[in-house]
Amino acid sequence: MNELLEGLIAKKWIPGPRLEDAIRVAKELNKDNIVAMINFIGEHIKDTDKVDSNVNEYLKIIDAIRKEKLKAVISLKPSQIGLDLSYKLALSNLKSILNKAYKSNIEVWLDMEEYDTVDKTIRLFKELYSSSNRELFGICIQSYLRRSLDDIIRLSKIKARIRLVKGAYKPSNKEEFYISRDDVTKSYYKLLDYLFKHNDNFIVATHDSNIIDYTIKQNKKLKRRVSFAMLYGIRDRLAKELAIDNKVYLYLPYGKDWIPYTTRRIKEGVNLKLIIRSIFSR
Ligand SMILES: Cc1cc2nc3c(=O)[nH]c(=O)nc-3n(C[C@H](O)[C@H](O)[C@H](O)COP(=O)(O)OP(=O)(O)OC[C@H]3O[C@@H](n4cnc5c(N)ncnc54)[C@H](O)[C@@H]3O)c2cc1C
Repeated sequence: MNELLEGLIAKKWIPGPRLEDAIRVAKELNKDNIVAMINFIGEHIKDTDKVDSNVNEYLKIIDAIRKEKLKAVISLKPSQIGLDLSYKLALSNLKSILNKAYKSNIEVWLDMEEYDTVDKTIRLFKELYSSSNRELFGICIQSYLRRSLDDIIRLSKIKARIRLVKGAYKPSNKEEFYISRDDVTKSYYKLLDYLFKHNDNFIVATHDSNIIDYTIKQNKKLKRRVSFAMLYGIRDRLAKELAIDNKVYLYLPYGKDWIPYTTRRIKEGVNLKLIIRSIFSR
């Protein structure tokens, strides 16, 4: 039963195993003025050949975006391009991906993974970020981490582009994480208010209607370059409506290794009703 449910949901949230599947869906999203944020599924790769093939896959995505003239960006996990093997390897791989993406004016976003990767991910970002690529390179920050306000303050000082999320990995302790959903949401608002005050260009990545409505209201007054982002297959109808007046990204993962991604989404679905609603509605 679990496998059947996971398979059904994976299909709804992941267009398919191949790059062509992501390209096909990206073209559909573009018709609705939605930017595809393409991710090749995979994480915590400890095999150098597999790391190399992941890097090549991202280079292929960049070629495809350019060739097909898609409105699309890429978003990748540091642990899929070598962070678990060595910082230096991930740095050099990310550099190659960024160099190629910049030539075609394609944005590159760093996903944020488990707590023990946060420092290294921010270090990677800072090391490769410069004023010349300010618009094209961004980093995800999680509101369930107590440290995130400090990170956002530091990153906003260098005018980094930030994609704000609640956080998808299992919190391990109260010292580092906000545990309750209410506290995570409160922290999200606090970080969002900080971004509105001190950062001109950021992404509000959530399916939470209250946060989305609040952002729209605030932005009418403050007029920042705010974009929205959601995960493909969860609230696509809302994304489509938002894209009429706003820049909207849909995170579009593809690949064979769908279990960790799908499991995180199932846990967020809160209850079976939401999961079923997410399968049968867009
Ligand atoms: C574009 C994007 C990029 C992301 N990148 C990262 C990242 O790099 N690192 C990271 O840790 N996390 C990332 N996330 C995941 C994020 O941290 C949350 O786990 C996820 O977005 C759910 O939180 P929420 O803000 O939607 O709020 P929630 O409080 O989880 O949900 C708000 C409402 O949205 C609806 N909803 C949410 N999820 C589902 C679902 N699965 N099925 C049905 N309805 C649902 C429900 O109505 C729910 O009440 C990303 C999310 C997005 C949208």
